[in-house]
Amino acid sequence: MSVFLTLLAALVASGACAYHRTSLRTWAIATVATTLVVGVVTGAWITMIVLLVIELAVAVPLLMPAFRRRQISAPLLKMFARATPALSATEQTALEAGTVGFEGELFSGMPDWRVLLKQPRPELSTEEQAFLDGPVEALCAMIDDWQITHELADLPPEVWDFIKKSKFFGMIIPKQYGGLQFSALAHSAVLQKLSTASATVSSTVAVPNSLGPAELLLHYGSEEQKNHYLPRLAVGEEIPCFALTGPYAGSDATSIPDFGIVCKQMVDGVETLGVKLTFDKRYITLAPIATVIGLAFRLYDPEHLLGDTEDLGITLALLPRATPGLEIGRRHFPLNIPFQNGPISGKDVFAPMSTLIGGPKMAGHGWRMLVEVLSVGRAISLPSNATGAMRASAAATGAYARMRKQFGLAIARFEGVEEALARIGGLTYATTALSRATAAAVDRGEKPAVTSAIAKYHATEWARQVAGDTMDVHGGKAVQLGPKNYAARGWESVPIAITVEGANIMTRSLMIFGQGAIRCHPYVLKEMQALSIADYGEKLRTFDRLLFSHIGFGISNAVRSFVLGVTGASIGQSAGDAYTRRYYRKLDRYSAALALCADVFMGVLGGKLKFKEKLSARLGDVLSYLYIASAMLKRYEDSGRPEADRPLLAWAFHECMWRTQAALDGAIRNFPLKPVGFLLRLLVFPLGRREVPPSDRLGRRVAAILTAPGEARDRLVEWVYLTPTPNNTIGRMNALLPDVIAAEPVERKFGKALKAGQLQAHDYEGQLAEAVREGVLTEAEAALLKRVRDGVFEFISVDDFDPAELGAKVTRADRGHETEPQQRIA
Ligand SMILES: Cc1cc2nc3c(=O)[nH]c(=O)nc-3n(C[C@H](O)[C@H](O)[C@H](O)COP(=O)(O)OP(=O)(O)OC[C@H]3O[C@@H](n4cnc5c(N)ncnc54)[C@H](O)[C@@H]3O)c2cc1C
Repeated sequence: MSVFLTLLAALVASGACAYHRTSLRTWAIATVATTLVVGVVTGAWITMIVLLVIELAVAVPLLMPAFRRRQISAPLLKMFARATPALSATEQTALEAGTVGFEGELFSGMPDWRVLLKQPRPELSTEEQAFLDGPVEALCAMIDDWQITHELADLPPEVWDFIKKSKFFGMIIPKQYGGLQFSALAHSAVLQKLSTASATVSSTVAVPNSLGPAELLLHYGSEEQKNHYLPRLAVGEEIPCFALTGPYAGSDATSIPDFGIVCKQMVDGVETLGVKLTFDKRYITLAPIATVIGLAFRLYDPEHLLGDTEDLGITLALLPRATPGLEIGRRHFPLNIPFQNGPISGKDVFAPMSTLIGGPKMAGHGWRMLVEVLSVGRAISLPSNATGAMRASAAATGAYARMRKQFGLAIARFEGVEEALARIGGLTYATTALSRATAAAVDRGEKPAVTSAIAKYHATEWARQVAGDTMDVHGGKAVQLGPKNYAARGWESVPIAITVEGANIMTRSLMIFGQGAIRCHPYVLKEMQALSIADYGEKLRTFDRLLFSHIGFGISNAVRSFVLGVTGASIGQSAGDAYTRRYYRKLDRYSAALALCADVFMGVLGGKLKFKEKLSARLGDVLSYLYIASAMLKRYEDSGRPEADRPLLAWAFHECMWRTQAALDGAIRNFPLKPVGFLLRLLVFPLGRREVPPSDRLGRRVAAILTAPGEARDRLVEWVYLTPTPNNTIGRMNALLPDVIAAEPVERKFGKALKAGQLQAHDYEGQLAEAVREGVLTEAEAALLKRVRDGVFEFISVDDFDPAELGAKVTRADRGHETEPQQRIA
């Protein structure tokens, strides 16, 4: 017994030091002192002596820096240098671009929640709110999405004019250049609201405010370029596009074959230094109508007109549409969401040096410029459009499921439908928090490389899930296309969002963890950077300091993961109120598990992890769910901890933890070295997998929020265009919802009378009149039932067409390539 007690005391002392991340010195003193005291008290002399020898054998060399550096760190530095894969210039650029925000805490294994909770609550300014209530409302009221998507395959001229005149294209352009200079939150709110009226309009507005020339010019443009273009872009006098993608370079954008050769050419009788460009681009948004084209290409200088380097690398230019040789104007047709999108090509197109963004000094810096600005655009455009679509789905599907009756009941009452409604509500809640957090990060001045990828991936994937659920709950109503169908275009648009700005499979498999692990990890990037220190003594000292901090970090994470796992994350101090404290503790637990797994995976697999995409994707999922759950807790705090939101928060939180567990389990189960996997399982899931998905009861409470007016629903559908104008079915459905609910008890009374044979008429109006005569219903009740029935009929109706209306307006034969699809020559 005394032996056991002594061993246990030494273990607890060591574990407590690791759990609280004390210094090596504190650990040594605490462990040796505990062993001594307990050994003497219990009389376990031999155990005590053996333990002391081991403890001192570990502690003493580690506490002698010079010895430690020479005997331990120096050989490890050699091994590390050999094992660290050489990064390509592209990877180096991607890793160094952007900043790290709260996601860094999640990688620490011990998040400091004060950092998150102290961040200011994101709010719109009075001017931004006025823009939402004014021009954005007005634009939404002008939109007829059927006209846009089916009849015109374009925005009508008055909508184009309004968008330009109201400066929708100038949201990110500073006021000094005539733009609106909105915060990222306002930019996101505008896109969210527009996307609830039309995916085509929101996509059109998103592009010039995202990876458009404006963003590039703001950061890298010369004064002359800024003064020339920005005021014109702000008011839509110039329409921009940005052309990177081509037939041979999609996801792997750095491999673009498009090239430019530095040369001299006579322009208006003057010899001019410039670039002769050959390129073939496709999928370029706004290209068919663009007046200024941002172009990415590889620049070569074979005659050394710019300097010694021949292959200068990726370079960006801005070409006016009138540039001779530019082939532009044809359109692609992206999935019935007909925003302007098309190919651009050119052969030996001459562009003067002044067209290079930032001028000749920025030649070859194109990739860094793109990666840096891409993270900001990616944090806003697609997450906002997806979030708006999800909010609109929540408003529409909740109302529809309460109105549509089958088997004598509102379909929302059936458990199968309730399940879909719960997913819509819970995932929408999570996504609103995610896009808000990411926009807030941009407003704090961050360039969120990792979290913008998380936001892009998860907002669009969850939008796909919600769009599918929305279609299912609406049944045939959502399948029959026409002006009355408000669901199908959203569903059709989902794969576009999934594909653009980094297609989702690659974003998940390669980018989130790939960048996250190195960028957010407290030591890995610094260790890699230490390798490039020229002075060996300095390099060794830096590496030694980082290495031993890193080892302590790893041991601490293992202990924290195990202890929090064994206790079900129910111990220790954490942030939050009585309701959310357990949530923060769970995040503490999985943060430690993620940090532990990240170290083990990177340590054991090294550079090979890059090719183990399925493992990397799962660890990326863990980071994502922790980030999303943190964003939800912040949102809950920022909203004043509203009790009404708790079912949404609880559903989404449990879903995130359930998915976190599945991702960790999958990563560990598939780890190639089984003994390591076994050890990790013991540390991460000491009591097995205990997380459960959100319960059916919780799902019912979420569905109830969607199907009745209330403060939680109002917050969930914030920024949905709900004004009940003639063009806005969702707004009118929403306006009818209180009457639908008020009519339910009256309908039950009426139904009982019908069942009891009290009413003889065969038609509904006759039955109502009879019910009033018989005293079953009052006049007001009968009027309510009539109003609701008429209103609901409009919403359950679908369109039908004259067969001629559905015929193609232009056939393949009209277009002159009826036999073979058109071939493009690369
Ligand atoms: C409607 C629309 C608008 C667009 N607008 C623009 C624009 O304005 N400007 C512009 O330059 N580009 C634009 N794009 C291009 C867009 O960014 C690309 O479509 C995207 O980068 C993917 O390229 P790809 O379609 O060629 O797919 P591919 O690169 O052929 O990829 C196919 C699949 O393979 C996956 N994949 C590829 N590599 C990996 C990997 N290493 N690991 C795992 N999976 C991988 C991808 O995720 C994808 O699922 C647009 C595209 C569309 C469809």
